[in-house]
Parts: sequence; C-alpha cells; structure tokens
Amino acid sequence: MKYWGYFAGKLAAIVGVVCLLNLTLAHFFPPPPVSRYQHDRSLFLQDMSYTFCVLGVWLIAVGLLSLSVRDQRQRCRTCLRRLIMPVATGSWGNILTIGRPQTEWICPFGHGTLRIDELQITGKESPDWTRHDDDIWKELESYEVRK
Ligand SMILES: [Zn+2]
Repeated sequence: MKYWGYFAGKLAAIVGVVCLLNLTLAHFFPPPPVSRYQHDRSLFLQDMSYTFCVLGVWLIAVGLLSLSVRDQRQRCRTCLRRLIMPVATGSWGNILTIGRPQTEWICPFGHGTLRIDELQITGKESPDWTRHDDDIWKELESYEVRK
C-alpha cells in the first residue's frame, strides 16, 4: 500500500506542476478580445507560439510521467528505497541450462529481488518481484546446513 501511495503522491505532484505550467501559459497568453467574426477564442492552433508552448507543456508532462514510472519500477515494494546492484543472469547461448538473460536488482535491506527480462518478445512484461523472508539469517543458515 505504501508503494502505491508513494506513486500516487508522485502523480499528484506531476499534476500540480502541469497545472502550474498551464496557469503560467494562461498568464502569458491571455485570450484575444471578443470578435464579431471569430467564434473560436482559443489560441491553440491559431497562434503558433501558444501552440508550441502547449505542446512543450504536454512534452514536459509526458516526460515527468515516464520518469516517475521508471523510478517507481526500480524501488523496493516494502521500503521504497531504490534497488541496487544489478546483476546480469542467464545467457542466450545456454538458455536451457541457466535460463533467459535477465537483470536482477535487490533491495539494500534484503526485502526482495526484482527480475527484469532483457528481451520482451510478447510486449511489455511486468517485472518479477520476489519477496524475501523477513529473517535473512534463516536463509543464510539454510545454506550452511546444506553444506
Ligand atoms: Zn526494501
């Protein structure tokens, strides 16, 4: 829940920035006076500088949204810290023995591992998040027992 709340907070901040930019545009480009012959008072597609400014605001909004989604994907689902230590696993040459190429990211506090496929043939696949046990020592001790 904390994960999605953080994402909603970022989206709200982006909406706030875009609204502020739109208000700035409205301040610098006031609507033209009422004309008897022109019913459409919108400057969009009528005034080139206003149209480019609106497109620039749209581009900024899409860029912020893209950065937000990219940042959110690389955060721990539990503590919201950025995932670290990317490790490339798998190989196309040895796909049957060690699997497809993936990149694994881990939480610095051991909450989980994120696996992202290198090649996504069937469209954009959601990354695989694997939650670890809360007791990391239990997992380490299990390796010791196996030996
Ligand atoms: Zn974490």
